[in-house]
Amino acid sequence: MKFFFRIFQVCIVILLCGGCGREMPVARNYVDTAMGTVIRLGLYCAQEEAADNFVHKVMELLEDLEQESLSWRSETSEVYGINSGAGSAEGVLLTEELAALLRECMELSEASEGAFDVTIGALTGLWNMDQLAAGMEADEIQLPSEEMVARALRRCGYEAVRLERGQDGEERIYLPEGMAIDLGACGKGYALTKILPLLDMEPEITGAVVAVGGSVLTYGVKPDGTSWKVGITDPFDAASFIGTLSLDGQWCVSTSGDYERYVEVDGVRYHHILDAGTGYPARSGVRSVTVLSRDGLAGDSLSTACFVLGPEKGMELAASYGAETLFVMWDGELILSEGMKEYWTGKMG
Ligand code: ADP
Ligand code: MG
Repeated sequence: MKFFFRIFQVCIVILLCGGCGREMPVARNYVDTAMGTVIRLGLYCAQEEAADNFVHKVMELLEDLEQESLSWRSETSEVYGINSGAGSAEGVLLTEELAALLRECMELSEASEGAFDVTIGALTGLWNMDQLAAGMEADEIQLPSEEMVARALRRCGYEAVRLERGQDGEERIYLPEGMAIDLGACGKGYALTKILPLLDMEPEITGAVVAVGGSVLTYGVKPDGTSWKVGITDPFDAASFIGTLSLDGQWCVSTSGDYERYVEVDGVRYHHILDAGTGYPARSGVRSVTVLSRDGLAGDSLSTACFVLGPEKGMELAASYGAETLFVMWDGELILSEGMKEYWTGKMG
């Protein structure tokens, strides 16, 4: 008995000493802005320097993505070059990265029958919701006329775009004159897809939650073993949550809502998610959609598509991508996909 007790004691000492060399990860929080939105990082990392370096890398990545690739506003970006080359017979040469991204976007446009459509630039430019929502007085707001909307609508439509790999092996995009690409509906989710490998490369970070605007990535584990909790904004009171999702490991939670950027004129809400069928802000009875997926790009694109499609078609589309959905409707009803219920704590539909 004494012998076994001694062995037990030795084991305890070995176990404790084994842990001595390893520091416990500490929660570290960072807030910054990039891509026109708020970036929040919650990192579990033992070393402050490693966490700081990681945040620096992420901010650099986001800045480069915006300035060099995705932004239709930045004159140095690839999307700006594509839009400037609209109508040219020889098309515009694409980097491998943007070609792959645009191909995925086109696939989702087809699958959603145009509810998600990155060729919506002429319409988003016309509505210019950022400006409209920037605190103007109601009598200063000038909404576009029906004729202007109809004209812009004729300059949208993913079916009119060709992506082709030439004999030289290079990919080109052929965008009809007057058309413009706007990656606003998927850029933040795409950014999360690019942040994920950076996390994989940083062994000191054992768990993380990264939010790029309304798209949130969870990663790894918490030191206490509990699940990640992602709060879902209440569209009727954007300062509070209607519930939370409890998630283990790597997920992406993407929310699109009509409370983000909007103006109200004569009791009508004009918001930033447009229906490429009508040219007007989508009226599907939805106030917000949350999509739970593994992949950031799919999740962000789907949340916009689902907002336009409404719960029935939206849920079906998301399911075909293996994603779960939560719809908050204008009448306050909550509609959750079956799989979503497993992660949800809050009011049930
Ligand atoms: P947020 O940018 O608030 O996260 P979304 O992901 O839903 O919201 O994206 C909305 C943005 O996407 C708009 O600001 C606009 O630039 C663009 N957009 C609006 N409607 C559509 C649409 N039907 N398809 C593709 N992009 C859209
Ligand atoms: Mg989106």
